[in-house]
Amino acid sequence: MSGNRRKTAYVVRPPTAVLTRGFDPRLSVGSARPAVFRSSTYVFSSPEAAERAFSLALGRSRPAADESVDLIYSRLSHPNAEILEDQIVPLEPSATAAAVFNSGMAAISTIFLANCQPGSSFVYTVPLYGGTQHFIHQVLEPLGLIGIAVPAGDTIALRTAIASARELRLVFIETPANPTLRMSDIADAARAASATATRPLVVVDNTFLGPTFQHPLTLGADVAVYSATKYLSGLSDMLGGVALGRDPDLIAQLRGLRAILGNILQPDECWMLDGRLPTVGLRMARQSKNAQRIAESLAGHRCVERLYYPTLFDEPEQRRIRDAQCRFPGGIFSFDVKGGKAAAFDFLRRVTIARNAVSLGGVESLTCHPATTTHSELSVEERQRAGIGDGLVRVSVGVEDWRDLLQDFREALDAL
Ligand SMILES: *Cc1c(COP(=O)(O)O)cnc(C)c1O
Repeated sequence: MSGNRRKTAYVVRPPTAVLTRGFDPRLSVGSARPAVFRSSTYVFSSPEAAERAFSLALGRSRPAADESVDLIYSRLSHPNAEILEDQIVPLEPSATAAAVFNSGMAAISTIFLANCQPGSSFVYTVPLYGGTQHFIHQVLEPLGLIGIAVPAGDTIALRTAIASARELRLVFIETPANPTLRMSDIADAARAASATATRPLVVVDNTFLGPTFQHPLTLGADVAVYSATKYLSGLSDMLGGVALGRDPDLIAQLRGLRAILGNILQPDECWMLDGRLPTVGLRMARQSKNAQRIAESLAGHRCVERLYYPTLFDEPEQRRIRDAQCRFPGGIFSFDVKGGKAAAFDFLRRVTIARNAVSLGGVESLTCHPATTTHSELSVEERQRAGIGDGLVRVSVGVEDWRDLLQDFREALDAL
């Protein structure tokens, strides 16, 4: 035997990988945590290295396997983005690459603009996050793109829309849908997409249940996109967005457009988000357990007409999708208060621990009234179709002690 003993290639699991890859302390003067590199521009090691860096950045050549490439300018990329992009990949099973953006909307809009041309079409589930819906109606449709809406949870309608759309480039699925948590079948949509001639990209907005409880890429989706403003960062103190994909070339293409649009996540925010990644699974597990206990206890309250939460689904198709694609129900529930808007407002005023604010996924509990806030720009008819009534309240459960939250919600309901 020669001295050719190799260490066994050992692939660590995601919570370990996130703490051990992507960051070399030697490049941060030995610091155990990455330094923040706020530089806007980077010094080249030689004119040849500068030439090579531009050739790679502009797509004129491809990097060799172990090639170390000089950085150029921070709108293209910077050390903190590179560290974060490396560290976040293992959290999304089947992802090979990530691109970070300065908000969830920046990630979503860049994905659409990179993949859809005027005259082409895309299919999307409704209801959608308000910003995404706006982007479709106010930017994409006026540019001459054709958007085809399909109600969340209608598996056959989604399959049919994908099979019959012309020049289809992209399928955008938000599941579970906000605020009713209706789920759409990712695997079925991915199968339908791969059976069409144009092979549209399947993109899943995974903000509500990922990266801990739902893994779109393992179900056949091409891209998982996040508002990192929510669970990924988890403290309601920054904006961010991430796109993760199975195909590194697809992510490289997003980075190319990101360099032009100038919507890369800035170094300080990358550093903050990087520090939150190791705890996202812990936070989400606690938030999901809290939400499940509270939602299941409130479901029978005399002032609650209907409660929306994955463990309480009663439609067989919704249960089937839930069991096929989600590991845990997550930290968000909604409910219809008896007595409509007045009762819902009364409830929001009486709750003392959870604060009345939009957004979600933070360690603190938040409540909101979708019909008059996050979904107020939908027409009455669109709201009805989406199941967003005047008495609907959405709750994002934090990491407080669930018994305190339950008592607070119960007392507020008892007083109605
Ligand atoms: C918040 C959110 C977005 C938008 O993210 P920003 O970081 O606010 O730009 C997109 N999709 C979902 C599901 C969201 O909750």
